[in-house]
Amino acid sequence: LRWCTTKHIPVTKMTKQETIQIPKPLEQLTASEIERKACIGKIMTYTLRSLTNTYINKGFQWLLPVALSQSTDPLWPDPGASIEKRIEVDIYGKPVRTMSSMIIHKLVAASTAYPKLFILSPNIRIEKGERAKTGKHIYEFTQLDFEMADSGSKDVFALVEDAICTLVKDLKKDMKSELTTLCRCDTLKAPKAPFKIYDRADLEAKYGAEGWEAGIAKDITEPVWVTNIPREFYDYEDFKTGKWDNYDLFMPQFGEVLSGAKREYEYKKIVEKIERDQVKKENYALIIKMAKEGRLKPTAGAGIGMERLVGWIAGVKHIAECQPFPRVPGNVNEL
Ligand code: ATP
Ligand code: ASP
Ligand code: MG
Repeated sequence: LRWCTTKHIPVTKMTKQETIQIPKPLEQLTASEIERKACIGKIMTYTLRSLTNTYINKGFQWLLPVALSQSTDPLWPDPGASIEKRIEVDIYGKPVRTMSSMIIHKLVAASTAYPKLFILSPNIRIEKGERAKTGKHIYEFTQLDFEMADSGSKDVFALVEDAICTLVKDLKKDMKSELTTLCRCDTLKAPKAPFKIYDRADLEAKYGAEGWEAGIAKDITEPVWVTNIPREFYDYEDFKTGKWDNYDLFMPQFGEVLSGAKREYEYKKIVEKIERDQVKKENYALIIKMAKEGRLKPTAGAGIGMERLVGWIAGVKHIAECQPFPRVPGNVNEL
């Protein structure tokens, strides 16, 4: 085992990812790299406008994000989460954490004043440095996070399929020159709804427990849903069948760009799952209380990783290329 001196990562772990370059900060870009960066920036702007328009036109309220909170996503026991460090500080004598996702805020907001909501939510997840070259991980990213009361998976599928199909169809018409510069004009295909749905258990049987995510991403030519993925307590689990009513959206040759679920809202199940996962109950006191009082509604929602979605559209090797100020795990720049 050799150690990569700059990143303190075992070299063996990096060999597969070696071809991916770490995106450079703005001030180090060459003229052609600036041109590429500007094209990706225009596609990001177009994507933000298209998606927010779709949600607003369907009656969603646009909420402003929260950055510090006592309660945030536990990211546990999801085996996909590889967090090196959690940031916790005291303010006004109380501990708060930097936002890893606004899932808890969404559950409370959708159950009260905002039955259909979305947020462009900055998330901080200090991913392990060894994820520098996955090309899919950055330590600050933005989710278009949304939630709907009295809804289920089918409602989310229909909404997202409409949003993505409209976006790509319009992009191919309006952003031809940018897509050409990025060599995506021909390879980016406008998807057709409805997207196919796969069960994670079947994919594991086909590709193996470790390889199913890479396997499905490589084999598909259209976006697909993957359901039934064991993870955090707030996703709905049928205790009788053991199946999870949750979903990821996978893009061809790229991988996951969205995760979401129908949610738990019943007091007994929430408490049982929090205890089962050994998650700190005191950090989730409010939703436990609201569930006990019957004030938590059945909701469903998801979060779209904006850098990943635009990364797929632009065909980048590393999604930090979609950030003006790259946040590559293990790398801290002045800006
Ligand atoms: P992965 O398994 O790829 O590490 P995840 O499943 O742990 O990701 P989620 O907790 O599902 O991530 O987060 C919701 C969405 O936010 C993801 O579908 C993805 O689009 C985006 N996302 C999550 N982590 C990152 C990250 N480190 N960098 C960029 N986007 C991310
Ligand atoms: N945004 C995701 C969801 O809605 C949660 C996450 O970020 O992990 O389920
Ligand atoms: Mg996920």
